[in-house]
Amino acid sequence: MALPLTINEIMYFAGRHHGGSEVVSITADEGLHRSTYAEVFGRASQLAGALAALGLEPGDRVATLAWNDHRHLELYYGVSCAGYVLHTINPRLFADHLVYIMSHAEDRVLFFDPMFMPLVEAIADKLPTIEHFVVLSGAGGASESKLESVRCYEELIGERNTDYAWPDVDEDSASVLCYTSGTTGHPKGVLYSHRSTVLHAYASIMPDAMGLSKRDVALPVVPMFHVNAWGMPYACAIAGAKIVMAGPKMADGETLQRLIEDEGVTIAAGVPTVWLALLTYLRESGKTVPSLERTIVGGAACPLSIMREFEDEHGVSTRHAWGMTETSPLGTVNTPVRSSEDLSETERDQLRVKQGRAVFGADIKIVGEAGSELAWDGEAFGDLKIRGFWVCDGYFGQDDSVATLDAEGWFSTGDVATIDADGFMKITDRTKDVIKSGGEWISSIELENLAMGHPDVAEAAVIGVAHAKWGERPLLIVVPEQGKDVDKGALLGWFKGRVADWWIPNDVATVEEIPHTATGKISKLTLREQFKDYRLPAES
Ligand code: ADP
Repeated sequence: MALPLTINEIMYFAGRHHGGSEVVSITADEGLHRSTYAEVFGRASQLAGALAALGLEPGDRVATLAWNDHRHLELYYGVSCAGYVLHTINPRLFADHLVYIMSHAEDRVLFFDPMFMPLVEAIADKLPTIEHFVVLSGAGGASESKLESVRCYEELIGERNTDYAWPDVDEDSASVLCYTSGTTGHPKGVLYSHRSTVLHAYASIMPDAMGLSKRDVALPVVPMFHVNAWGMPYACAIAGAKIVMAGPKMADGETLQRLIEDEGVTIAAGVPTVWLALLTYLRESGKTVPSLERTIVGGAACPLSIMREFEDEHGVSTRHAWGMTETSPLGTVNTPVRSSEDLSETERDQLRVKQGRAVFGADIKIVGEAGSELAWDGEAFGDLKIRGFWVCDGYFGQDDSVATLDAEGWFSTGDVATIDADGFMKITDRTKDVIKSGGEWISSIELENLAMGHPDVAEAAVIGVAHAKWGERPLLIVVPEQGKDVDKGALLGWFKGRVADWWIPNDVATVEEIPHTATGKISKLTLREQFKDYRLPAES
C-alpha cells in the first residue's frame, strides 16, 4: 500500500491511538498548561482553518519565534499538515540576522511569544513580506502593542472548527524550514520534507537511537526552533510518549528538576550546557531526578564529567549523539554493543565519549585529503561525510548550480572524525576549530573534555593562537568552579600522561564567562575575536 509518508499520517495515527497521551508545558502567559495530543490536533485543525482564511497558498512560509510549548506544537502540525511550511526561528539571534532570514524566507505570517513583542515591534518595519503578526496568547495579549495589525492566537483560532478538511499533501513537499546559525557568512535555510521528517522520526524511536516507547515521558530541552527539537515532537507522537515542555525556562536547572520530578520524566534531550545547569542545581539543592532513566546529549561534545555525574550520582545513563541542522539532525548515537560489556572502566570511558554508531537511514564515512575513504581503525581521522534519507541536498533559495553533495551523493559535514572497528565515530574537531601545530592536528574537543574533568574547572574551551615556530598552539580558557582558584601549573600538569606532550596547551587564561552561540554551544568565533591580541608567554 503506497501510503504517503507525511506528517498528516503521524497526526492521524497519534490522534486515534495515542489521543489521550498528555502534553504538558510551561507557557509564557498561563503557567503550567495541560492538554492531550487529541486536543493539540483539534486546535491544529482550528489553526489550519484560520490560516486558510488569511489567504495562504500551499508552500507559503509561516514563521515562529517561540519557546517549546503546546501552541508551538499546534503550529508544528497545523501549518505543515495544511500544506504550508513552518519556518522556526531562533529568537536569540541578532536582530539583523532575524530580518535577513525572515526576508530571505519571504515569511507571510509571524507567530511569536508575548515576551518577544518588543523585539518584533523593533524590526517590524524591516519585514515587508510579513502580512500578519500573531501573538501566542489569550485574548488581550496584544492590547498594548505598537504593531499596526496584530492578533491574538486564541482569538484567531477560536473562531474555527476542529474538523478541518486536511489536504492530500505530497510526501516530497516541504514541511519545515530551519536556518543554520551561520557561524560563517549568511545563515542558510535547510528545508525538511514530510517524507524525510517521518523517516527521521521513525528511526529516532529505534532502541539504539532514543529508544522511545509509549511508557516514556519525554522532555525535549532542545528548542523547537532548533532542528525541530531533534524531531521529538514527531517521534513522541508516533510512540505515544507523554511530552513535557519547559517553555521559556529551558536553561533553568530548578525548573528542569521540578518538571522531571512532578511529571515523571524518563528521557530528556539537550546540549551539554543545559545539563551543566541541571547538575549544578542538583548539587547545590540536594534534589534528585528519580524518574529520569536516560538523557540524549548532543549538539556539542559531551564532557565525560557530565556523563559520570549523571550515572554515579543519579543513576541516569547518557546517550551521546551527533548530528547537525542539515541532517535533521540524527546522525549517530552512542549506545553500548555486546562487546562493550567486557571493557575496563578506562576503556568504557574512552568509548562513551565517542559520538556513536550510524543509524539506518544515515550512512557515514571519513575521507582523507585525496577524497578516498579512510580505515575504520579508531586512529585515522579525516572529513566526516554523511548520506541518507534525511540529509539535505541543497539550501533554500540557493542557486541549483551550487553543489551541496559530492559526485557520489555524500554531504560534507565540516567535522573531522575517526571511526573504530565497531563503527563508533568520534568527532575530533570541526574543520575550522582544529589546531594545526607544526602541520599536525590537535583536537580542541579532547583537550576541553580533559580540562572539564579537573575539579577546579567549571567550563573550558581551547582555541589555537599564533605561534612563531609552530604556526598555532593551544590556549586553554577556563571558568573556575565557584570559590576556587585555578593554578596554572597544576592545571597544565593535569594533562601530563593524559595526552601526548606536544598537545598540552601552552597557557591558561581564566575568564568569568565563556561566550555561547545562539544554540548554546561554545562560540569559538567570539573567543578567537576576544583573544586576537593575546600573545603566548615568551618561553613557550
Ligand atoms: P551550527 O553548525 O550552526 O552550530 P548545528 O546545530 O547544525 O548548527 O551544529 C552541528 C555541528 O555541531 C556539527 O557539525 C558538530 O560540529 C557539532 N556537534 C553536534 N553534535 C556533536 C557532538 N555530540 N560532539 C561534538 N560536536 C557535535
